[in-house]
Amino acid sequence: MHFFPDYRQPIIEALIVLEDSGITRFPVDLHAIQRQYRNLFEIRSYVSLMKERGLTREECIQLLRSEDGAAVMHGYGRYVIYYNDKKSRRRTRFTIAHEIGHVILGHLLEHEVPIISREGMTQRLYHRLEHEASCFARNLLCPAYHAERLLDAHGISRVADEDVWEVARRTALTENLGMRFDAQSLIEKAFDISSAAAKTRVGLLQTDIDMYSAHHLDWESTKDIGQSAAWYCTRCNLERFPGASHCSECGGKRFAFKVDAKAFSYRKLGVNAHMQFSPCPVCGNESYSADAGYCRICGTLLTNPCTEDPAHLNHPEAKHCYACGKITAFNGSDHHLRIKRSLETQNEGDFSMIYESEIAYDPKTNKVTVCPRCDNEQINTDAAYCRICGLPLVNKCIPGQWKDDFGNFHDSHPHENLPDSRFCEQCGQPTVYFKHNLLKPYAQVLGIDEPGDDGNDFDPDIPF
Ligand SMILES: [Zn+2]
Ligand SMILES: [Zn+2]
Ligand SMILES: [Zn+2]
Ligand SMILES: [Zn+2]
Ligand SMILES: [Zn+2]
Ligand SMILES: [Zn+2]
Repeated sequence: MHFFPDYRQPIIEALIVLEDSGITRFPVDLHAIQRQYRNLFEIRSYVSLMKERGLTREECIQLLRSEDGAAVMHGYGRYVIYYNDKKSRRRTRFTIAHEIGHVILGHLLEHEVPIISREGMTQRLYHRLEHEASCFARNLLCPAYHAERLLDAHGISRVADEDVWEVARRTALTENLGMRFDAQSLIEKAFDISSAAAKTRVGLLQTDIDMYSAHHLDWESTKDIGQSAAWYCTRCNLERFPGASHCSECGGKRFAFKVDAKAFSYRKLGVNAHMQFSPCPVCGNESYSADAGYCRICGTLLTNPCTEDPAHLNHPEAKHCYACGKITAFNGSDHHLRIKRSLETQNEGDFSMIYESEIAYDPKTNKVTVCPRCDNEQINTDAAYCRICGLPLVNKCIPGQWKDDFGNFHDSHPHENLPDSRFCEQCGQPTVYFKHNLLKPYAQVLGIDEPGDDGNDFDPDIPF
């Protein structure tokens, strides 16, 4: 029998339990662990024992020799873990994890005791078992590397040669975040443990990390366990964007770090190297010119700048600028409504649509090589219109009009577009080919109804 705690085994066992129970996010769901190990132990409250045996809570505490909880062997290799339901939820989580530690580490079997208590064994042995079970508990609920990763994302690192962890730098996540935080409070919230347990976790973080590296403990299988906790706007509960000083939904400036089932976030949408939304949040198209301002398939604007500083580019769902809090170009606009609506109807998986063009053209001149309306293939290099049906051979936009200083309207200059563009990338206006029903509206291609607008009810009078 050894009296010095072995901290290697509890860490290994904790990682195995996390993997076997299929834990994918912190805070750890103890119900998932209970389901996985239902043949080994069950978890019951003191109140259920009180009812079953007709005991008072005080008698229960006496019987189990603990204010918080105890693992009791019921028959060979089967256990009941009791917890005092009068304690706080966070404290109880740690108690249950600690008792699971006694069970998994085989403490009761090894020492042939029905319950771990001071009275049944020597002080040294009792302390060894307690330290091992607690090591298991903290690495189950809050594994060292995951804690370190959370702190690192917040720019928190260890003060040299001390077990103190402090904010040392700004990170992509904390940039412009005008809120105070520290290692202990972040860990408490992210892993749903008491402040006392979080304090111990921080204090023993380097010790546990050293244990991992000294024994080459493999944490690979738990690497992808993610965090549910995030920074949310305290007013509207939108998840804050990294680097944002203002909430994109309400313009608020206060954020709280927490796990919150009622919180929400905007859909994850990308921007390309030219800072255009990509794919298009309405139709899923990804092919744009570098200087396109509008999606050529559905006509949606490809950026949502703030109305104060056009250099501040926002998420397409944003109503307020993340950088200055002023309203965005989309706030209250048709674009915003369309984006909201289409994001609600789209599923994550079937996004990013490839619009296959069947129209043959010469990429040097953008001129079609076969007329898409009458199938005429005899097209002269210098011709501007199809000699059979008169269709322009380059798909131009039908520009809107502009008003001069005297109130007179003028036609704008049309822009050249690819033959399969429904809308002009420069001005957002429909193209000639779209207007002539040579191209289907994007909603029809995607097989969705676009509410209130069939997308193609243009003036049939084309001037040619
Ligand atoms: Zn114990
Ligand atoms: Zn907000
Ligand atoms: Zn689009
Ligand atoms: Zn701004
Ligand atoms: Zn033709
Ligand atoms: Zn145009």
